[in-house]
Amino acid sequence: MVYLTVALFGLLIGSFLNVCIYRLPLDQSIVWPASRCTACGRELSWYENIPVLSYAALRGRCHTCRARISLMYPVIEVLTAVMFVATYAAFGLSWLLPIRLVFGCAMIVLFVIDLQHQILPNEITLGGVAVGVAASLVAPPGWRDAVIGAVAGGGFLWLLAWGYERIRHQEGLGFGDVKMLAMIGAFLGWKLMLLTLASASILGSLTAGALMVSGRAGLQSKLPLGTFLAVAAILASLFGTPVVEWYLGFYR
Ligand SMILES: [Zn+2]
Repeated sequence: MVYLTVALFGLLIGSFLNVCIYRLPLDQSIVWPASRCTACGRELSWYENIPVLSYAALRGRCHTCRARISLMYPVIEVLTAVMFVATYAAFGLSWLLPIRLVFGCAMIVLFVIDLQHQILPNEITLGGVAVGVAASLVAPPGWRDAVIGAVAGGGFLWLLAWGYERIRHQEGLGFGDVKMLAMIGAFLGWKLMLLTLASASILGSLTAGALMVSGRAGLQSKLPLGTFLAVAAILASLFGTPVVEWYLGFYR
């Protein structure tokens, strides 16, 4: 019963994340005006705004202009619901629950926006650094770990980006990625930040390898690092602590 409530709440929030994903890159307000069909501009009524169900009932088309509604909307709603349930299962009713839910939502939004537009909005990344450090005052990883995580994460990628530009004379790594890793460090602390960076690199390399083998990308193709960081950060947030403990066990 509790899990069902958490899942339904996740679907509703997922609906709001869709609004953020669509409007943030266009610099539009996320609270006003009400949702519209992106093709004909007609304002949506309440029954067209029900997560997943509306999409299914309308069979993926706008009721007036018959334009296709992206499958991304219900997919994001379901993913958000799954993230909510997994976060509740991992942290129960604790301070970390709302903190990691907010973090997970931010990662889902960054995941899609980076994939679609190759940008990572400052509202989320820089705002996230501030929220993450503030949250660490009342919950793990504690403010020291959070500040070290933000500075080390941002600093490391910044050095990498700066070095790459000096050597290759072209931008290989966006500064959005720098700010995003600083945010991840602020929320998760430096240990889980390092785990996130390592697993995002592996995930990115595997994807690049698969794309090259299948002939859909070459050596010069760019992959959005933020997209991989987002996936790795959600996994690290939910399951990373035992992995870090196990690894550090070797040095004790
Ligand atoms: Zn329409």
